[in-house]
Amino acid sequence: MNEVLLLLGSNKGDRLNFLNLALDRIDQISLKTPVVSHIYESEPWGFDSKTWFLNMAVSMQTDLSPIDLLDKLMEIESDLGRKRDPEASGYESREIDIDIILFGEKVIESERLTIPHPRAHLRRFVLLPLNDIASDYTFPGSGKSIRELLNVCPDKSEVLLWP
Ligand code: AMP
Repeated sequence: MNEVLLLLGSNKGDRLNFLNLALDRIDQISLKTPVVSHIYESEPWGFDSKTWFLNMAVSMQTDLSPIDLLDKLMEIESDLGRKRDPEASGYESREIDIDIILFGEKVIESERLTIPHPRAHLRRFVLLPLNDIASDYTFPGSGKSIRELLNVCPDKSEVLLWP
């Protein structure tokens, strides 16, 4: 069984509802009741949007392979109404985004999956929620804990405890 840390985000529609619906579905596929962080509101990163994101970190347990878990999470995203715009390059608004940040101690670099998530350690909107539930976890590769990564994170974008 592997512990997996996920980061959920929504900046479209009823953001809190989308986080809760996604959490219900994650609960159904997790082998133990998921542990959740506080919810944070964060300014969009890398693109212009009036609507800020709500973000939440979730720890779940699974026996699935990383790719099988990714497929399940992408099914949840699409069931909750997320449409990927094939024309869009880069970031766009979304009802729900579920990223796999850490998958046990695994390091994966494949066509479909990069774990640890490649930009997680650079973003306060990822590190702040993760710090609530897994501050002592070490990012494979860096050797730094989430708390340490947060302390040295150069990202100055706003991430506020919500509501
Ligand atoms: P996004 O548009 O941000 O939801 O990106 C989803 C795409 O990123 C999927 O097609 C995944 O194959 C890919 N991806 C790569 N690494 C990860 C990861 N650690 N967690 C989630 N998606 C990932």
